[in-house]
Amino acid sequence: MAKTGDQINPALIAALVGKELDAAPERATIAMLPGRYVAKVWANRDRVERLTPKNPHVLRCLSCGQRGRYDLSTLVFDAEGYGDREKSAGGKSGAFEDFLQILGYFRCKRCNSAGQWELPKDLEWLIMADGAGNALHPPSDPFEQRVIWGVAAMMDGFLPRFATDGEEHYLQMFARNGEDAFLWDRLGNLYMKGGRPELAAAAFEQSIQLDPQQVESHASLGQMLFDVDEWEDAARHHHLALLHARNYHRMDTEKLRMLLAESLRELSIMHLESERKIPLLPDWQQHAQAQGESLGEPGNKSKTLMIRGFDLNPSDQKSYLPLADIYLGHTEEGPFTGVDIAGTDNRRVHRYGKKKRRR
Ligand SMILES: [Zn+2]
Repeated sequence: MAKTGDQINPALIAALVGKELDAAPERATIAMLPGRYVAKVWANRDRVERLTPKNPHVLRCLSCGQRGRYDLSTLVFDAEGYGDREKSAGGKSGAFEDFLQILGYFRCKRCNSAGQWELPKDLEWLIMADGAGNALHPPSDPFEQRVIWGVAAMMDGFLPRFATDGEEHYLQMFARNGEDAFLWDRLGNLYMKGGRPELAAAAFEQSIQLDPQQVESHASLGQMLFDVDEWEDAARHHHLALLHARNYHRMDTEKLRMLLAESLRELSIMHLESERKIPLLPDWQQHAQAQGESLGEPGNKSKTLMIRGFDLNPSDQKSYLPLADIYLGHTEEGPFTGVDIAGTDNRRVHRYGKKKRRR
């Protein structure tokens, strides 16, 4: 446990273990987070691919006065609103900070309070320079962008200033309306973008406990476990994402196709690198379980997918789309219960594209 505090909201622990908020621990630690994967992800957190760039700055906590270095990750700035601030009525004072959102998840290392910060004096200048530069010359990888001009609204239109405000908003929704796997998945994404994969792991695990068919949470866990070399578990979650994709309707179809393509890309890397020990695709038993059918021999329902016809390239996520379409029911070929990948796995993959995830 870090001496300076683990920067965790005690209310998150209470929500995860099903306790009322007033039963939340005074001091929350990583060890208190439930879930199979939290400890492994925490120990290897630097290996989990980030969805946002690192962006450290020195901030002063307004609760206890202590200064510290925190990772702000992506800064979202409403340049348009700021330009029109004279015209806009309402609660905003017109201060620069009122138009800024900070996606990094951090709490005071000394007093653990959140959302009350004195921002560095030069941040406004940095945002203007960086944002203008990005607008003129967009970086080739938008995930490297430290400043984005725009607004980051939650599903209900709420605009969190800090990631900790967004987290609080979700925790209040759970307390008011009961828990919802989809909302836990969104909270997991907030932690991922905030640079806190161990908190994300706990949220995604909570999501699939509430709904074992939550495709996005399975895919996210698969990606994270792939990164930290927990390949058997990674493959299991990627397989479950594939198996339940057909009945998943909470995601735009194109995004879902790309999500499954990434699952398949990582599965193919694990399959090749493990010399076939990790299965590329789910087997007939997993299919039957996913469909809630009783397990029997596959018999004449068995249908083998001949994967030779697919030109799969681990450096090219899009090459997996035709295979993803089978799991989405977009083609007539599925469902199948066996796979023949002869001819495709004679070479090992030494170089494959990183940074292929997009959401
Ligand atoms: Zn403090």
